[in-house]
Amino acid sequence: MISYKKIDEKEQILESLGEIALLIMLVDLSQDTFRVIHTGNDDYFHNLRSGSFQWFIQCYMKRHTSEDSYRKLDLLYHQFFKKRKESECRNELELKLVEKEKTHWIRMQFIRGKKDHGTSDKITIIVQNIDEIKYRNKRQQEEIRERHIKDNQARSTFLLNLSHDIRTPINAVLGLTQIALLHLDNQKKVKDCLEKINMSTGYLLKMINKVLDVSRIQSGKIELENEKISLKEIIQDMLDMTQDDVRKKQLTRTVDMEEFTEEWVYGDKARIQQIFLNLMTNGIKYTDVGGNLYFKAATLPKKYGKYNTYQFIFKDNGIGMSREFLNKVFEPFSREENKCTQNIQGTGLGLNIVKSIVELMQGNVIIESEPGKGSCFQIYIRLKPLEMQQKNKKEAKEDINEVIKQKRYPGVRILLAEDNEINREIAAELISYVDIEVDEAENGVQAVKKFADRPEQYYQMILMDIQMPEMNGYEATDLIRKIEQKRKSRIPILALTSSVFDEDRERVLQHGMDAHIGKPIALPKLIHILDEWLKIKDS
Ligand code: ADP
Repeated sequence: MISYKKIDEKEQILESLGEIALLIMLVDLSQDTFRVIHTGNDDYFHNLRSGSFQWFIQCYMKRHTSEDSYRKLDLLYHQFFKKRKESECRNELELKLVEKEKTHWIRMQFIRGKKDHGTSDKITIIVQNIDEIKYRNKRQQEEIRERHIKDNQARSTFLLNLSHDIRTPINAVLGLTQIALLHLDNQKKVKDCLEKINMSTGYLLKMINKVLDVSRIQSGKIELENEKISLKEIIQDMLDMTQDDVRKKQLTRTVDMEEFTEEWVYGDKARIQQIFLNLMTNGIKYTDVGGNLYFKAATLPKKYGKYNTYQFIFKDNGIGMSREFLNKVFEPFSREENKCTQNIQGTGLGLNIVKSIVELMQGNVIIESEPGKGSCFQIYIRLKPLEMQQKNKKEAKEDINEVIKQKRYPGVRILLAEDNEINREIAAELISYVDIEVDEAENGVQAVKKFADRPEQYYQMILMDIQMPEMNGYEATDLIRKIEQKRKSRIPILALTSSVFDEDRERVLQHGMDAHIGKPIALPKLIHILDEWLKIKDS
């Protein structure tokens, strides 16, 4: 009974193998014979019966395979089949079958049976059709190659655009500086040049920040904050910040907040503000004088677990966008080139950033637009509302003139370590406006020496650049913190640096510094931080 069952099972296995195999054959090398166990429904191998194995390889297969494939098979025949003592008991080849201009790919597997001593003379050969796998691999390789070409093209275009867009404001700065130098006795002209230089550098800075944003987003380096924020406050800020431009272009702006509830949420204030400002300023930029803008904020009724979906609509009746352009509107540096847009300043990076940030917030952007009629951007983002709605605490905005008028620190002396001469001059001058005395060092070595040579309490604080020749800010801080007089070594050291990402802030603190101030320096912010640290030191 049992042996019958076993035979049954073996047949069943063979039958199943037959389903996926074009050919199964048994070879006896000692007799140079083969026996066909199974042939599939394909034309190939159909008429094959039993016979001499050498004939099968050197006549039958030679006739039915491509030249290359046959060479491989012949090699294997000599190595694998002839050297029977070899311990290798499995082998396989991928071969190309050719018949009547049709080609197919097969995988031929050779499985040698085992004897107690050495290898057996019996070999099972299984042949499978692998057309589909080959086709898939080829398609995948083609896709990889196409993607590679596309990436390279995109990178070249990106760099070309970047170089062009950076050159434009730099040219303006260089040209205006020359004009100002030639008219030093004409105060009005110099003032005009300086204002324009200020505007160009502001634009340059914004652009560099956007480029960095794009590249950080693309490399997955952006992480969203999860702070308690008021959406209403962000909306109000956006409306306030753009009010001047709306007025200048005599636009009518309608704001609809009727369906907006639950303003307090966990989210990333700076990023949401970035989305709002980009879309609102686009609406203003791309709408003619006297046009209409519409903004709507709404909290949709459907909840996703603890999350609300917030909808924000930015609509205008401006120049609109063509259907072709809409297909690539989110690509970096894409700007619609036409008569209406040629005089409008822009980088074509904003919408790419908007889409990426919205997607990070598990949301989506929908755009509808028609040339000459206007555009409508709908933003949907999911945010978790705070359980207890909190009171609005707005940061006071500070004006540089007010700060200089109000703050004075006579008798305070700080050490400024900065290698770049112009940056050192700017920082020293700005700080001197509030009566702080500044001592300068050109690198880490000088800073450590100056500090060590002076008595305790001589300096109240150190402003330390990070990247400096001879000794960087981290190393200098390390040496200062190791000074034996405890109180002296604990002097507040604030990093003054162009490295402004979150990880840079963290690194500064890890290296024993007390705070991080990003360049370019905004005086009100600098004074605010100095004030805070001088107070801490005195307490
Ligand atoms: P930028 O405005 O700095 O060029 P964006 O990425 O914000 O960059 O926008 C990309 C392009 O999309 C713009 O250059 C413009 O051609 C088009 N665009 C964006 N917003 C609008 C709008 N509201 N109306 C018409 N065109 C727009």
